[in-house]
Amino acid sequence: MDYIRIPLGPRKRIALVAHDNQKPDLLEWVGFNKELLSQHDLFATGTTGSLLKEKLDLEVTVLESGPLGGDQQIGAMIAEGKVDFLIFFWDPLEPLPHDPDVKALLRLAAVWNIPVACNRATADFLISSPLMNGEYHRLVKDYRSYRERLKK
Ligand code: PGA
Repeated sequence: MDYIRIPLGPRKRIALVAHDNQKPDLLEWVGFNKELLSQHDLFATGTTGSLLKEKLDLEVTVLESGPLGGDQQIGAMIAEGKVDFLIFFWDPLEPLPHDPDVKALLRLAAVWNIPVACNRATADFLISSPLMNGEYHRLVKDYRSYRERLKK
């Protein structure tokens, strides 16, 4: 399969999501990296985003709450090329009503080769990568033949 190279500039579009038990972790992580993160465009699911705004005074585009469709909104943004990066602290110890949405979001991040951090250690490595501030080309499979598969 061929690949398409999608350029990522230094200013990234970063989506932030945390399940309730992981929200303290995300808030602490974002607080620690606030300076750096404020140089990017931030998006978040409803409750996560409101907390980031209130507690850290960050500029964030707040979407619908995750269980009400926010995860799917972020998934759609990934498919439309409007999100470059996903910080998703999902809860590994709690079944949630929107588990299918969680799976769908992680799946779309894999389909579109989006960097994803599901815990603080990975988020630390991602944010401290030299690639964060430079030009990077994300390789995405060329899905044209998949789209055309039934047309012959
Ligand atoms: P929330 O959604 O930020 O609205 O809590 C997160 C989620 O559960 O996906």
